[in-house]
Amino acid sequence: MSDDMELDCRAVLADVWLMLDGECDDATRARLQHHMDHCSPCIEAYGIEEKVKGLLSRKCGGDRAPDSLRDRLSIEIRRSITITEIKTEEA
Ligand SMILES: [Zn+2]
Repeated sequence: MSDDMELDCRAVLADVWLMLDGECDDATRARLQHHMDHCSPCIEAYGIEEKVKGLLSRKCGGDRAPDSLRDRLSIEIRRSITITEIKTEEA
């Protein structure tokens, strides 16, 4: 159960990345909105809650993320992927 939640949270980061990159579709928005409704702390933890909320409320609107935010998200996503790989090896 908790593993599923962790997986979901990592997937959310990838969805945020897609949105920031301008690849925003209904399915991605729905996934993010649904996740934030049930698990907002994980978005808060990355310090991107306001950004994500803004994207959702504007329905993405072709907004381009500042390089600083892109860099930060990129690092978080890579870190999440690395953690996943380590856990898999240990199991
Ligand atoms: Zn979450």
